[in-house]
Amino acid sequence: MLCATIKKDTQCAFMTAKGCSYKGGICNQIVEQCKGCDRGAEFSSGWYCTACPDPSVKWKSGRCNLATHVAAESVKETTKINPLKASKRRGR
Ligand code: SF4
Repeated sequence: MLCATIKKDTQCAFMTAKGCSYKGGICNQIVEQCKGCDRGAEFSSGWYCTACPDPSVKWKSGRCNLATHVAAESVKETTKINPLKASKRRGR
């Protein structure tokens, strides 16, 4: 449904016929870590995230998973390969 409060006329999953269903009935502004992210947008009352209502929560336990300006940490593959099993797989 289209937002009728902070992010006027943008699609929002929290907007209902009775108003904004997010806690407090309002979105929170972006935080320092969000600067540079393409999902941040300026509205008449300030800068807000177009993807989530409370950006501070997205950064609480590390990097925001929706951020466009921070590269995802590459996950090193550190699993040890059993040489016996590997040779069996090659034989298939
Ligand atoms: S997607 Fe994440 S980093 Fe980007 S503006 Fe939203 S909360 Fe901030």
